[in-house]
Amino acid sequence: QALISFRELKKTYVMGETEVKALQSVSLDIFKNEYVALMGPSGSGKSTLMNVLGCLDTPTSGEYFLNGTNVSSMTDAELAEVRNKEIGFVFQTFNLLPRLSALENVALPLVYAGVSKNARLEKAKEMLVAVGLGDRMDHNPNELSGGQRQRVAIARAMVNDPSIILADEPTGNLDSKTSYEIMVLFEKIHKQGNTIILVTHEPDIADHAHRIVRMRDGWIDRDYKNENITTAV
Ligand code: ADP
Ligand code: ADP
Repeated sequence: QALISFRELKKTYVMGETEVKALQSVSLDIFKNEYVALMGPSGSGKSTLMNVLGCLDTPTSGEYFLNGTNVSSMTDAELAEVRNKEIGFVFQTFNLLPRLSALENVALPLVYAGVSKNARLEKAKEMLVAVGLGDRMDHNPNELSGGQRQRVAIARAMVNDPSIILADEPTGNLDSKTSYEIMVLFEKIHKQGNTIILVTHEPDIADHAHRIVRMRDGWIDRDYKNENITTAV
């Protein structure tokens, strides 16, 4: 059974008299522990697809099964619960809270999960050590480099043990050396059994993924196995 299954998913945005068909009809299966790069030109529907995938938005029609559960007709509250349990988000702009330390940023999702304070800090520490930031736990985001901020964001995304990591242009603000280091980290996370879906414009970044899905005008244009996987040595 697929972890993620889209069945003729459509998403139409209505703005006054105009309708934008952001997703025309998307059917897609993604299995546990796949590593997928989502590519395609601006406006092709990648963000819309990621928002539905991440349970941040619901489709206009069609079905989305996540781990066998139909989430396409859930209420916002139900979706939030699924999201907090199953999905870890990583963004281009890191989205860390500036007044909190790295440790507090990473611990934050566990507040919503109802974990006790000591357990939160223990788990957050463990995650920061895992991303190589054991010596930066008390730093605020503005005291960290871009690559370090993204490591904090990745630790935060992983702290709830999600089954899926959704990364939207995670290296878009990083230089190529730092980008590579972040990709090494994703590789490690993938090897631990996680499922990763990554939006990127950069072919070098997409080449770390095992499968490439290309969108165009709200459709999946190409979906193929990457025969040229870049792996860290
Ligand atoms: P991509 O991420 O590939 O750039 P998007 O999913 O953002 O593509 O956009 C797909 C289409 O849907 C575009 O035509 C975009 O203008 C439109 N769109 C996206 N979000 C909205 C929205 N909230 N309201 C109206 N139109 C939107
Ligand atoms: P709730 O509805 O329970 O208050 P939130 O809206 O705070 O939940 O979001 C829950 C999770 O979804 C958080 O981990 C957050 O990072 C993520 N999230 C919220 N809004 C967005 C967004 N616009 N884009 C991407 N991720 C988001």
